[in-house]
Amino acid sequence: MTRRSILALNAGSSSIKFALYDIASSQDLQLVSRGTLDLGDTPTLRAKAANGTVQCERQLAADKPRDAAIGEMLNWVQSEIGERNLLCAGHRVVHGGSEFIEPVRLTPDIIDAIDRLTPLAPLHQPRSLAPVRAIAALQPDLPQVGCFDTAFHQTIDPLVRRFALPRQYEGQGLRRYGFHGLSYEYIAGRLSGISPTLATKRTIVAHLGNGASLCALQQGKSIDTTMGFSALDGLVMGTRCGAIDPGVLLYFLLERGIAAEELQTILYEKSGLLGVSGISGDMRTLEASNDPRAHEAMALFAFRAAREAAALANTMGGLECLVFTAGIGERSASIRNAICEKLTWLGVVLEEHANDTHAEIISRSESKVEVRVIATDEESVVARHSRKVMQA
Ligand code: ADP
Repeated sequence: MTRRSILALNAGSSSIKFALYDIASSQDLQLVSRGTLDLGDTPTLRAKAANGTVQCERQLAADKPRDAAIGEMLNWVQSEIGERNLLCAGHRVVHGGSEFIEPVRLTPDIIDAIDRLTPLAPLHQPRSLAPVRAIAALQPDLPQVGCFDTAFHQTIDPLVRRFALPRQYEGQGLRRYGFHGLSYEYIAGRLSGISPTLATKRTIVAHLGNGASLCALQQGKSIDTTMGFSALDGLVMGTRCGAIDPGVLLYFLLERGIAAEELQTILYEKSGLLGVSGISGDMRTLEASNDPRAHEAMALFAFRAAREAAALANTMGGLECLVFTAGIGERSASIRNAICEKLTWLGVVLEEHANDTHAEIISRSESKVEVRVIATDEESVVARHSRKVMQA
């Protein structure tokens, strides 16, 4: 029988991560390749086999439209799978609104419905849909599946997701949704894979990447999270401000005469680590800098993460496990340390050497809260859901 493969795509601001899986058995998906399509000034396609061997490192023409680069990636995937059959392409989609709480097959009508949610995620939703549309145009017969970052948070209680706005707005979709759900779903799955007892613990997962949020997991389900209606809420991020007094926005609009579009750019692209440091939104660059403003930005990042973690611990009525994931969470020992120091009163005690070496468990044995580092893998969740939707 012809073997079948699934392509999982995770589109970001300037790159698309992708992973190719073979359907190995009734349960398993086997990773074949993992890669990145860098869409910056020098578009580049990179892919590695599951064992880390470089399979492709190719610079693409910079003067062609993005869809052409996506086409090259698709061609590479097709040549890689050879005689095997590409079952579908699965996508991480940032916003599913109230409507999309399960992964779905992406038909033209569904794509339009997802597009109508763009005002809820003005910068992110178009990025999610760009590869969907490109693939639909290049290979109209290839089935596509959308997996929503908001869906994992549907278990959040109405009390927790409600804004104190006039009641009629809630019915119009003005509520907290939460994001990074595919990452949290992966971590919840890993925790239960490590030990069923661990999965029952009151856990905060800190997804600290360019975008950053925290999720409170109880019995593996999301019961609170720091991102709300939009991906601007909660923590300080690479270039996003995080939670902010709404009065500041009114002041910008009404007193300073700043146009709504400009305000959007300030909040999404010029704030956060970049805005406070005036240097960079990239944590590695800030860590390497001697400029005091870089240190102020990192201190604010850690302060706000710890403050939000305490709020989530309050929602759960305690804290037994803390998991760090994504670029900063997996690789920055100093940020983990700065956050955990502020959570000492909740019983968090780090083991310095374990933290410095990014060990699996980085807390001391006497720590009341077990602290772990787990590498996230959103693509594997996309692939698993896509397979289910395709009933393969
Ligand atoms: P995205 O949200 O775009 O998927 P990532 O999860 O890749 O982002 O995280 C990117 C962030 O991780 C950047 O701020 C980057 O500087 C930071 N990062 C990556 N590696 C390290 C490292 N070794 N030390 C500190 N920060 C790191």
